[in-house]
Amino acid sequence: MVRAGPDQRIKGTQMILTKTGVVATIGPACSSEAVLLEMIQSGVTTFRMNFSHGTFEEHQQRLNMINQIRRQLTYEICVLGDLCGPKLRIGRIEPEGQVLQPGEEVVICSDCPVGDLHRFGTNYPAFVQDVLPGQRVMIDDGQLVLTAMEKTAAEVRCKVLIGGAVLSNKGINLPDSKLSIPAITEKDWRWVDWAIHNNLDYLALSFVQTAAEIHHLKEYLASRDSWIRVIAKIEKPQALENLESILEAADAVMVARGDLGVEMDIAEVPLAQKRIARMCRKLGKPVIVATQVMQSMIQNASPTRAEASDVANAVMDFTDAIMLSGESAVGKYPVESVKAVAHICHRIETWQDQQDIERLMIETEPGLGELAAVARAIAQMLDHVKTKLAVVWTQAGHSVRLLSKARMDVPVLTVCPDALIARQMSLHYGVVSICQARPCNFDDFIATTTGVIMKNGWAAHGDRVLFVLPQDILNIQTPLALVIRTL
Ligand code: PGA
Ligand code: MN
Repeated sequence: MVRAGPDQRIKGTQMILTKTGVVATIGPACSSEAVLLEMIQSGVTTFRMNFSHGTFEEHQQRLNMINQIRRQLTYEICVLGDLCGPKLRIGRIEPEGQVLQPGEEVVICSDCPVGDLHRFGTNYPAFVQDVLPGQRVMIDDGQLVLTAMEKTAAEVRCKVLIGGAVLSNKGINLPDSKLSIPAITEKDWRWVDWAIHNNLDYLALSFVQTAAEIHHLKEYLASRDSWIRVIAKIEKPQALENLESILEAADAVMVARGDLGVEMDIAEVPLAQKRIARMCRKLGKPVIVATQVMQSMIQNASPTRAEASDVANAVMDFTDAIMLSGESAVGKYPVESVKAVAHICHRIETWQDQQDIERLMIETEPGLGELAAVARAIAQMLDHVKTKLAVVWTQAGHSVRLLSKARMDVPVLTVCPDALIARQMSLHYGVVSICQARPCNFDDFIATTTGVIMKNGWAAHGDRVLFVLPQDILNIQTPLALVIRTL
């Protein structure tokens, strides 16, 4: 993208439009307007509020800050609320930090408010019911591994396979067990209501096991007249078993590598990432790659070589966005982490744009097949017809979603009359989005969007821009009409 002079700079403008979005988890390390704004300028397109941590008041304060910044921006950013889901934890343990050795026995019981090293409780009432002999019980992100031996109605006796220190409230993963707890807990429902009340753009559902759980949340949202989109977090092997139906039910997907890497062989995680990303491409849905992306940058100002390679590979897998967790929420270098991700993404995208990529036919919802075919043809055309940017008018976002999945060489400026859809679009690969009333006619559309483009420095005089319009603006009978203009 062409850099504008300093006088032309607009608050928040991303001068180089990185096409892979950065999802940044907001937390104490970035809870100031100045830092948030710098993160946006560096490539953040979506802020994630992690409801596993923090109170309603804390999240409200942060959201108010984001909304304040939104008013100063010329384009949209979106906010994703991440529901904690059935995150299982061990109970209180006294004294803290004693070490379990391999071969020792431990009793996990349903009623044990304060436990000790060899006998403790959990926050999950159905623990004893759900864990069967022979199944693994993993504690503290898989640091400790136990295996269930036998159980009574009130407790499970386990043997320690891999030992380590035991601390209160550490997470439990049950990779072999089917959980009977619903994916949306009582606590989650309160956050869903908060998200509806505060007009969030996406809700992510943790530990999804079946499509029915996604449908359940979507039905509730619809009954409350909310069009928040639902992201399925794939972090259990059971979700991988039902992947197709979960992906069909969800609006977007997150490869939640943190819990996935605990629940299954870590060597399977890269394969799961590739499989999920490819299926999302086929179905025309956005995918986020999450967790430990820039883990070392929680402490250090630059990433490791392995982290750089991981980000590059995620771009090559055609991910829509890359997520930062602790790096942006509690790390020492939130802005630098965003910059590092964006920089690597931009380099790989530039390389990828020069390649002849194979574009799969998108198997989208019935009724959108023709639009998907046209989107693919436009992306293919742009391999040969060079423009700086594509400007797309969209009502419901379908054309933009499909164009984004077709991986066009140039960024897409989305113009949408619906504020929620405009914001949601910014999670998609290559999309920067503005909310604007329906233009009166074609000339009006060109004039207003050109103004925004020039002001932000996304293209300059002499650059060619592709305008993509649906039939209703030009009043012609074709799925999409294309016009190339030199600014
Ligand atoms: P979490 O989800 O950060 O909410 O645990 C992401 C993951 O498990 O990777
Ligand atoms: Mn998780």
